[in-house]
Order: sequence, then structure tokens, then C-alpha cells
Amino acid sequence: MTHSRDNSITPLQMVHEQLRQRGLTSARLLQAMATIPREKFVSEDLRTAAYEDRALPIECKQTISQPYIVALMTNALQLTGQERILEIGTGSGYQTAILAELAAEVFTVEQHAALSQQARSRVFQLGFTNVRYAVGDGTRGWQDAAHLPFDHILIAAYAEVCPPALWQQLAVGGRLVAPFGSTKQQVLNVRTKQLDGTATIEYLTPCRFVPLIHDRQPPQS
Ligand code: SAH
Repeated sequence: MTHSRDNSITPLQMVHEQLRQRGLTSARLLQAMATIPREKFVSEDLRTAAYEDRALPIECKQTISQPYIVALMTNALQLTGQERILEIGTGSGYQTAILAELAAEVFTVEQHAALSQQARSRVFQLGFTNVRYAVGDGTRGWQDAAHLPFDHILIAAYAEVCPPALWQQLAVGGRLVAPFGSTKQQVLNVRTKQLDGTATIEYLTPCRFVPLIHDRQPPQS
């Protein structure tokens, strides 16, 4: 086991203690989690905390998800490297980079332009050229790219119900992984789209995310 000089948790420790020991065993996933530098996705003062077993604050009052949750959500997609993925809530770009490493193409939507811009430059600096970025309300999905339905969708913010546009843009047989629930109580769901458009639902774990913001409807006259 490697230890860093300042006693902070190393990527390999994180992978072993937080992921493998909790039952995540996919070699491709663990390799991605060990090699994508999470410290590049947090502010300078949080670098030494980058591999701790928790979410951390990022700009715009948002959070970078706990490594285990990022790994668990990614694991649920069982990526082979061929997939087109839609991600809602780019945030720091960390989850985006993990998806870019494990899938063919990632389309990621973020409501805050500043976060999207920063994520884009970080992910690009790591050498990924298979990610497309949009700024706006992700509850509408990515209409222009959805002529071909997405193989899978990952939502990194919680909602009470699944936004219909997102479900519509998911391929039959595709999985949507997202937290659903209320401010107090959320559960990570894996919803698989059936031929008739209905979902089979698997519940992974209780969790805590920031809310998925819905654009307000213009006032009705
Ligand atoms: N996986 C990211 C998590 C970011 S937190 C990471 O590890 O860094 C969730 C993100 O969802 C926030 O950045 C928030 O601004 C964004 N978000 C919330 N509602 C949104 C919406 N309707 N459309 C797009 N992004 C949204």
C-alpha cells in the first residue's frame, strides 16, 4: 500500500478501501478511478482531501460527488467502451472524465457556464477529445444529439421524478442512473428502459445530492 508524504489518502488507497472493499470489482472501472487525478478537479486548498471518502464543495455552491458514488453510478452502466452517454450536471468534470475514459462519447450538460468552462479545460488537459459540453437546463436533455437515443444517461443531481425528456432520449435497453427523492431522503436508482417504454428499477443505496434545478415556466397569462 502506498502512502503519501503528508498522510493524505492516495488514489490506490481510495480504490482499495472505498471501492474494492465495498464490492466494486470491475478492473476497467478501478483502473479509471485509480488513474483519473481527482485532485485536479477540486480547488487548491482541497487537494490533500481529494481522495477522502466524501463529497467536497466546488464553485457555484455545488459539490464533487464522493468517489464511491461516482464509481457506483459508473459501475451501474457496465460500460464496454462503445457507448454514447448523456450526463446531466457536469459540475467539476470529474465524473465526466471517468465516463470519457470508459465510454466512446460523452454529452454533458451543466446549468452554470463557469463550471462547464472549467470542467471542459480540465478534461481536455487530461487528453480527452470525446466529450461535448452544453450549458443550460439538462432536464430537457440534449435534443440535437438525441436523433440517435443515448445508450445510457447519468444524472448527478436529485429530482422527485424523472424528467420526461430524459427518459424519451434514452435507448430501449439503456440505463438511467440517478438519485430520486426529496431534500431529506434520496435513493440511487438504476432504471432500465423496456421495449414498451416502461422502467424496471433497481435501488442501489441511500444518498445525498444537490437538487436538479428545473427552469421555471414563464408566467401563464
Ligand atoms: N458529477 C459532478 C457532480 C456535480 S453536482 C462532480 O462530481 O463534480 C451536480 C451538478 O448539477 C451541479 O454542478 C449543478 O449545477 C448541476 N445541475 C443542477 N441542475 C441542473 C440542470 N437542470 N441542468 C444542468 N445542470 C444542473
